[in-house]
Amino acid sequence: MKGRKLLMIPGPVEFDPAVLAAMSEPTESHVSPDFIRSFGRALDMLKQVFLAPGGQPFVVAGSGTLAMEMAAANLLEPGDKVLVVSAGYFGLRYRDLLARCEAQVTCLEAPVGDTPDLEQVEAELRRGGYKLLVATHVDTSTAVRSDARSLAGLARQYGALFVLDGVAAAAGEELRQEEWGVDVYLTASQKAVGVPPGMALLVAGPRAMQAFQGRKAPVRGYYLDFANWLPVMQAYQAGQPAYFGTPPVNLVRALEVSLEQILAEGMEARFKRHACMGQAFRAGLQALDLRMLPVRESLAASTLSAVYYPQGVDARLLAEVSRRGAILAGGLLPAIRAQYFRVGHMGASGSSDLLATLGALEGGLAALGWKFPAGAGLAAAQQSLLASA
Ligand code: PMP
Repeated sequence: MKGRKLLMIPGPVEFDPAVLAAMSEPTESHVSPDFIRSFGRALDMLKQVFLAPGGQPFVVAGSGTLAMEMAAANLLEPGDKVLVVSAGYFGLRYRDLLARCEAQVTCLEAPVGDTPDLEQVEAELRRGGYKLLVATHVDTSTAVRSDARSLAGLARQYGALFVLDGVAAAAGEELRQEEWGVDVYLTASQKAVGVPPGMALLVAGPRAMQAFQGRKAPVRGYYLDFANWLPVMQAYQAGQPAYFGTPPVNLVRALEVSLEQILAEGMEARFKRHACMGQAFRAGLQALDLRMLPVRESLAASTLSAVYYPQGVDARLLAEVSRRGAILAGGLLPAIRAQYFRVGHMGASGSSDLLATLGALEGGLAALGWKFPAGAGLAAAQQSLLASA
């Protein structure tokens, strides 16, 4: 035993040693030439990872929820109408957060494992007057992925801005921010972007920045205000020092390293690798006769899986799997929290981590009395990986 378990929760995830090494370098001044270069490069690479060449990146100390709040607070003015398309816990979080912005919020929901369909979204948008459409790219509570491209098209058609919470998706799931017309795409550092927790990452497209620039009411929130951060981001992008709030220097260095690695892999290869990992993991689960939360394969995320415990098995499974070397997460939707578990497979995690996790899962299931042919899940996952190689 190497004395360290695989961290296979849906964030934070496994991180690359070079990223972690970058974090342990001596902390520099945030206005040193070296750091200015790192921050500027990180901002530029973030746009490349989101495929948003004309976007304005923001990197701010905080977690993903800060990125959600920044998007909402900077685009909305009191009384604006917002439509939220929710596929679970994080859609509802956005609904609640938007209500604090004094927006008029309408939230479409769906049964567990599903997402509101596009016809429903269009029917609501057709009623008119929506300033913002908000969706979650992958809802981490259900592993349901929304159809970001179609939602972006609908928002454009009905004159709304489109904000997409990509916290559990960005740098893993396919997303072409500029081509698809996603006005704000946002995430946090600790998931497929591959850096320990602590940064909110957001890229705003030209329409979003125009809406911000044209607002009449001041942004309610000082730390949130683009007006405070925009000159700082623009200065670092131009190789100049600037200050509003002290940047998380070591995390930004780690971000530079991780984004370099992501771009070296290439976005197309990265989207494909995540799709293959998701598919292989689900093939393994199906071979063990386990049922997933997403009600259709087309809704199943590439970056994580959400799986019901089979009959006779409960949350004790997590401890059994952990004893065998992989850390998984429990359920998150309050009403069914005790009935399912979640597994992250994104970022630096690769196919060998996936197979090791399935092996540990088979061990845990067998220990709790679930019957299946030993190695069935492993074989199915391996077949899927080999077929997609
Ligand atoms: N949105 C989604 C889809 C998430 O998965 C998470 C985190 N699990 C968040 C938002 C919130 O991010 P954070 O925990 O970093 O605030």
